Amino acid sequence: MIIVMQSGTPTDQIQAVEERLAELGYQVNPIYGVEKTVIGAVGGMEHEKIDAIDSLRSYPGVEDVLLITKPYKFVSREYQKSKTTIDVRGVVIGGDEVVMMAGPCTVESREQLFTTAEAVSKAGARILRGGAYKPSTSPYSFQGMGEPGLALLKEAAEKYDMRVITEVMDPRKVELVSSYADILQIGTRNMQNYDLLKEVGQTKVPVMLKRGMSAKIEEWLLAAEYVMSGGNPNVMLCERGIRTFEPSVRNMLDLAAIPLLHKLTHLPVIVDPSQGTGRRDLVETMSVAAVAAGADGLIVEVHPNPDHAIKDGSQSQTIPQYEAMVTKLARVATAVDRRLA
Ligand code: PEP
Ligand code: MN
Repeated sequence: MIIVMQSGTPTDQIQAVEERLAELGYQVNPIYGVEKTVIGAVGGMEHEKIDAIDSLRSYPGVEDVLLITKPYKFVSREYQKSKTTIDVRGVVIGGDEVVMMAGPCTVESREQLFTTAEAVSKAGARILRGGAYKPSTSPYSFQGMGEPGLALLKEAAEKYDMRVITEVMDPRKVELVSSYADILQIGTRNMQNYDLLKEVGQTKVPVMLKRGMSAKIEEWLLAAEYVMSGGNPNVMLCERGIRTFEPSVRNMLDLAAIPLLHKLTHLPVIVDPSQGTGRRDLVETMSVAAVAAGADGLIVEVHPNPDHAIKDGSQSQTIPQYEAMVTKLARVATAVDRRLA
């Protein structure tokens, strides 16, 4: 790190900073200018001393503290050059193939779920999505079927040879949800639920960590670091749109995050064009764009009768829309040297 001292800082204040840096285990390399002094500090693990480093900012004479390493380790490309692949009982995420996850926003009934699962699996989706525990902005909105919903997901996935992804919101339910699901989804509202992140970090169950709707990329990667540093290497990230000033879309799907994440991290990147737009008429185009931009998979909301869906009907595709989209996506994937699984 580099510590920039204010112009004309007295020697004793510079010395106090140097002593503190040495105490923290840094090799201290000051450059004493006529007006300004900068102190280079090398050798210590910045991310492990983040609180102590932060307190340096308030030392007398300190103008700025510039970190030169990333605040995360395990999720970074520097730590692991090769891309992470996650084997979900034979379905590989993060490899050459682009993996489709599809299903309703929320599990409503056996008929609704099984009809959707049959159709999307025929269209090549390998992973069945569906919420049994729904995080809702309104307490009056449907909260999900709970465990009976999980059981339906597992049964439908078994019947159509799919894997299950579903959301877990409560650290106390991680074990229960893991007994039905192949991938644990952590929703946008829980990206910074650190107890939940620690809990899923204690398992080896694959985790899909959605981006907080107001989260910066660095905060998102630090959330993933919670899971990985806890011992679970099976983490994928999901861009699902962020909040901006624009009201004509529910969220602003950040497509630039895809290539950017591939530079910063080795973790697979999934895109959710459904929450990412909030609009059925935009889902196909944004899915095409996401695959072209390097997404490792898509998670898409599909419903047999979206106009009567309990949740997120306006952003859910009909079955024919999904089928038509997949045909197109297969061509896009080939164009960018990938294949649709
Ligand atoms: C969902 O997938 O239905 C969902 C609630 O996602 P998010 O957490 O991204 O809003
Ligand atoms: Mn939804």
